[in-house]
Amino acid sequence: MTSSDTQPDCLFCRIVAGEIPATVVAETDTTVAFRDINPHAPTHVLVVPREHHQDAVELAEQSPGVLADLFTAAGRIAAAEGIAADGYRLLFNTGADAGQTVPHAHLHLLGGRPLGGLVG
Ligand code: IMP
Repeated sequence: MTSSDTQPDCLFCRIVAGEIPATVVAETDTTVAFRDINPHAPTHVLVVPREHHQDAVELAEQSPGVLADLFTAAGRIAAAEGIAADGYRLLFNTGADAGQTVPHAHLHLLGGRPLGGLVG
C-alpha cells in the first residue's frame, strides 16, 4: 500500500486541510489534533499525521518520525488537558476487526475518568 501527502476523499485529510470543521486543540508541522465527534471519555482527542497513511503500521513503515510526533503531541495535550497525572490511554485501531472506521492513521487519546480494562 502506498501513501501520498493527501487523499481528496479522506475525511481526516479534509479536516487537516480545514475543509471540514473540527475542534482543533493542537497543531504541529506534522500533526493535527482535534476532539472526537463521538467522545468516549471526558477527554477524547484524535491526533493525526498531516500526511495520509491508512493506518499506524503503514505510518511506522513510511514515516517513523511522524509516528513518534503523534505520541509527543499526545503527551503535551494530556498535560494541557490536566489528565497527565491521573493517566490516560493511547490507542490505534488497525483494520476492520479492531473497529477502524477512518482509514487515515489516528491516535486516540482518552482520559479524564477511570477507563477500566483494556478490552471493551
Ligand atoms: P476509529 O474507529 O479508530 O477509526 O476512530 C474513528 C473516530 O473518528 C471515531 O471515534 C469517530 O467518532 C471519529 N470521527 C468520525 N468523524 C469525525 C469528525 O468529523 N470529527 C471528529 N471525529 C470524527
